[in-house]
Amino acid sequence: MQALTSELNVDQVLDTVLQYLGQVTPYQAAFVVLQNSEGMHLKASRGLQELGDKMICPGQDCPLLSLPDNEPQRFSNDEGWPFTRCLPGLPRFASGIALPLRARGRRMGFLVFFANPSQIYSDADAQLAQTFADQAAIALENAHLYEQAVHMSITDALTGLYNRRKFFNLAGQELERSQRYQTPFSVVTLDVDWFKKVNDTYGHDMGDQALREVSSRLRAGVRSVDVVARIGGEEFAILLPETSLEEARQVAERLRFGFANQAVVWRDQQVLITASFGVTAIDDECTDLEMMMKRADQALYRAKQTGRNRVVAFTDPVG
Ligand code: GH3
Ligand code: MG
Ligand code: MG
Repeated sequence: MQALTSELNVDQVLDTVLQYLGQVTPYQAAFVVLQNSEGMHLKASRGLQELGDKMICPGQDCPLLSLPDNEPQRFSNDEGWPFTRCLPGLPRFASGIALPLRARGRRMGFLVFFANPSQIYSDADAQLAQTFADQAAIALENAHLYEQAVHMSITDALTGLYNRRKFFNLAGQELERSQRYQTPFSVVTLDVDWFKKVNDTYGHDMGDQALREVSSRLRAGVRSVDVVARIGGEEFAILLPETSLEEARQVAERLRFGFANQAVVWRDQQVLITASFGVTAIDDECTDLEMMMKRADQALYRAKQTGRNRVVAFTDPVG
């Protein structure tokens, strides 16, 4: 129990569950499936390498859902074998037990295990394993809640992007890395132009939709190693590792052009959103994150001052 509850990572808890289950009730193969609103997912397995981690039954028509959700179910190959449809690759074993995983009055999935001798598991084995599964379910639920809390603390709820706190955290790490390895590193900040007017003219819902659209265009317009974050109401920032100032400027220019040339469409309304961009890169005079962000802000301010819908790099000559 201590081993189970000392973990806060769902995958590690699953691993520990399968490991310790074997000490409670010996088995040859086992797996854990967890259900969510999309369906049933295979989350972990032992002795079944070929199964991997995948969704096994979309929707609510998984045959496993008809297994009892308040008691263990023993079964044998010749009586009923509920796995043929959801796990076609699953070898047939002579005996098995499916244990519902319940936490806070809700069934979250099943822990299922098998062995080949027929009739190997008794009722007492099933009850003992269920006691273990009940503890495992609580540990899983706790780890899941913890992961959710961590996710919420670093994510912006409207756009799904990283939030300001996470951005500064990652930016600090990236800056250190680029200093240690002497690699280029750039930051782009952007602020949507006249956004107050968008809200005033089209309503706050359209404004929200525009922000979601901006974030997905930003995400789609950069590499997967680049970090996109929402650092303010209609302000975003992008970390570009291994990227020079000139390359970063090109990225910003491409994004700017994309915004200015494709309206955001929502319901029966459409609005053209433009943004102003500030770009800066690490160099000998810019040695800490505060200075780097200040430079990006200054460049962005100049982009606003000189007409908006434009990209300004910190090193660009004034005027
Ligand atoms: P500028 O070109 O100078 O940046 O003009 P602006 O209107 O974009 O600047 P300002 O800072 O005056 O307005 C920002 C607006 O962004 C005001 C605020 O209501 C809006 N805003 C901030 N967060 C959200 C949000 O989550 N949803 C919506 N719909 N609007 C938001
Ligand atoms: Mg702003
Ligand atoms: Mg703005």
